[in-house]
Amino acid sequence: MAKEYDLVVVGGGIGGYSGAIKAAKEGLSVALVESDLIGGTCLNRGCIPTKAYLKSAEMVRKFQDMSEFGIVADDKYKIDFTRIIDRKDKIVQTLRNGVSALLKMNKIDYFNGEGSVLGTSIFTPKSGSVMIKPNDGSDEIVLTPKNVLIATGSRPTSLPTVQVDEKNILTSNGILQMTELPESITIIGGGVIGVEWASLLNDLGVKVTIVEFQDRLIINENPKVSNQLKNEFEKRGIEVNLSTKVQSAAIDNGQTTVTAQKGDKGISFEAEKILVAVGRKPNVENIGLEAAGVEFTRKGIKVDEFYQTTAENIYAVGDVIPTVQLAHVAAKESELVVDKILEREVIPLDYDNIARGIYTFPEIASVGLVDGKASDGANAKKGQFDFKFNGKSMIQGELVGQVEMFTDIKTDDVIGLSIVGPHATDMISEGALGIYLNASPEEFGDTVHPHPTLSEAIMEAANDTFGMSVNK
Ligand code: NAD
Repeated sequence: MAKEYDLVVVGGGIGGYSGAIKAAKEGLSVALVESDLIGGTCLNRGCIPTKAYLKSAEMVRKFQDMSEFGIVADDKYKIDFTRIIDRKDKIVQTLRNGVSALLKMNKIDYFNGEGSVLGTSIFTPKSGSVMIKPNDGSDEIVLTPKNVLIATGSRPTSLPTVQVDEKNILTSNGILQMTELPESITIIGGGVIGVEWASLLNDLGVKVTIVEFQDRLIINENPKVSNQLKNEFEKRGIEVNLSTKVQSAAIDNGQTTVTAQKGDKGISFEAEKILVAVGRKPNVENIGLEAAGVEFTRKGIKVDEFYQTTAENIYAVGDVIPTVQLAHVAAKESELVVDKILEREVIPLDYDNIARGIYTFPEIASVGLVDGKASDGANAKKGQFDFKFNGKSMIQGELVGQVEMFTDIKTDDVIGLSIVGPHATDMISEGALGIYLNASPEEFGDTVHPHPTLSEAIMEAANDTFGMSVNK
């Protein structure tokens, strides 16, 4: 006899577990199926482990700057990569335990195995039953939920001519399995994953070369920020090759060669390892989508603005649907699905105003429209404040970067905030809240910001919109 649930979630990443926990807190009976480790990509192979490495990388930089702070120590330091890995593993394990505990506390039935949705049959008259093949080899289990949430995520892609072996030619999965630092690496792709790894490996003493097809790094940020990151990277000795299209990669005697085309010139790059960071593709295979009548394309599962798929009562969120691939987006989408299931009024998510963060040195974060244009194409008003004029930045010894605030001239609403510099990824939420509440630059500027803080730079940028920044 199949067990009945209000909601069965397939996929235990941040999209899946956030939805499961919210549903359980709302009083629904919930099961969650995960084929690998609870926590998914972000917790196990993405955001969390890479940010842990980036923190170790920051400590190297801090050590190098120590004498500036009056701490005189022996100049020598050693990077113990094993301990960096151990620290990262401990953080990941602690967070994973935390998610498991939350599932238990909220009485969510957890199944470790492969889940797939079933079509209609004599046993399952309605499509959307979920079959589980447990990882422990025990008998298959069928759950009959009222609703299904698919949150199976995504995996790294490669180029057709670049064969990943996860030893010498790595994806963002394989590079986290690396137990020794290479002497050199070629990074294919100057998107978010490429630049974060470039930043941290450079700090850890690896010779880094980026090869990017576009004419600038991090194409989703404004061109000024892309150029700024390139300049800062080049100052640190990272080689950045733009407008350079990778064609193939080869391994010979433990050394790799990337062959690329720049204009009409062929170039090659040699290094010990290659990281391929050219995007991620949705995990739509082997989860029964065809049988259950859930339509999908190469870009992911088709959903409406409430994440309803083409099959009744089957929803999908996160990297498996064609919205922006960010952990916090997946979490929010799944919470909205629960509201929809509970027949509450749901306001569709405003994807233009999702805050984005890049954890390089310097950090980069943005929200809203940051290319100087309002949504109707008219020029936006801009206020800017540079961290080099901010007291807390001086105290911290981090002077690189600025806050830029963009305001719609017609509505006087702030429509975008871009921050490059210390704690940009934490501070961006002030901009996200302000935009959510339709705040004007006057309202940002009138809000008393504590002194001395980095956040004063946001207030000053707001006041600079009308020429009233005191410290500029
Ligand atoms: P991406 O799409 O951000 O960047 C891939 C880059 O590879 C692009 O700039 C593209 O021009 C380049 N490229 C493609 N083909 C190429 C070729 N033949 N030669 C040279 N360059 C080529 O993808 P990603 O960096 O792999 O990240 C994947 C996803 O993960 C993104 O959606 C990203 O937002 C998400 N992510 C986010 C964060 C964060 O928010 N901090 C961190 C990691 C990943």
